[in-house]
Amino acid sequence: MLKGKTAVVTGGSQGIGRAVAMKLAKNGANIAIPYIGDPERASHTLCEIKALGVDAALYVCDVSNFEDVAHTFKQIVADFGQIDILINNAGITKDKLVMGMKPEDFDSVINVNLKGAFNTIKQVYPLFARQKSGKIINVSSVSGLMGNAGQANYSASKAGIVGLTKTVAKELASRGICCNAIAPGFVKTDMTERFVDNKELIDSIPLKRMADPEEIAELVLFLASDKSNYITGEVIRIDGGLAM
Ligand code: NAP
Repeated sequence: MLKGKTAVVTGGSQGIGRAVAMKLAKNGANIAIPYIGDPERASHTLCEIKALGVDAALYVCDVSNFEDVAHTFKQIVADFGQIDILINNAGITKDKLVMGMKPEDFDSVINVNLKGAFNTIKQVYPLFARQKSGKIINVSSVSGLMGNAGQANYSASKAGIVGLTKTVAKELASRGICCNAIAPGFVKTDMTERFVDNKELIDSIPLKRMADPEEIAELVLFLASDKSNYITGEVIRIDGGLAM
């Protein structure tokens, strides 16, 4: 479905990003992964992607740092020749009730989750506008739609992603570029490890289970492919009914 295309998946070294990178690679896309943490884990993911027969590369890059992102995306274009798909997946949590939340923890979550997406979109915006094609998929969360006690910083960042998505969709629609967001509920990754055995939480999900990262990747593949060319500015919940 994506043969010959180049996809940038931020935070693609693990969790949802890793599943997305693998899914796009299985469908023929070359993959560039900006990541920040564990090089060993990232190299493992890279080997698995390359084994699928596509080109792939890792870039140590803090998405919250504009200069770092600008430099990385220049390098990606030099290495791959083009960018066709941008997945803004990198994200962090620093949960506390507002009462105990430090201002710097509010800032850092906004800077990675929201400004990080702005920083990467700034890089592909002129490229996509020039080539009159491109797909941008931003990972929001049901926390951004409903709010969630203990997540003022995270919920605000993910609600911001919704506004950013719709604005970019409006700005770039005349050039045939689609920008959409997905809003997962609970997905089995390191981020939600502490909730896996929380019966009350699982019971609150109508489908009575967390999602597998693979299920999120299927939706991202659809939005990255030509099958979704008439969808833009949309926020798609993928949450087992949690935010119904
Ligand atoms: P995860 O396993 O913790 O992975 C997060 C990824 O983001 C990691 O690859 C990490 O890179 C990368 N990252 C963090 N800070 C970064 C930075 N400053 N610059 C570049 N990369 C950075 O989390 P996940 O559960 O897969 O979440 C992925 C996305 O889905 C996030 O945006 C999250 O908010 C969203 N989401 C998750 C859930 C869920 O239930 N898991 C639900 C809704 C939305 P390193 O590996 O290099 O550290």
